[in-house]
Amino acid sequence: MEFYCVSCKQKRETNDYYEITTKRNRRAAVAKCPICGTGMYRIMGRTTPAKTTEI
Ligand SMILES: [Zn+2]
Repeated sequence: MEFYCVSCKQKRETNDYYEITTKRNRRAAVAKCPICGTGMYRIMGRTTPAKTTEI
């Protein structure tokens, strides 16, 4: 999946991510920039909360 690293200011493609559910019941994907290690987030949209952890 493609993420945007705010530290590198570039898009990063990685399959090493996991999904979480935010407190507002939004699914998001979390990954780590392979270059600088900064956390990258991507909102997936609203769906039914699954077995995930909250931010
Ligand atoms: Zn980065």
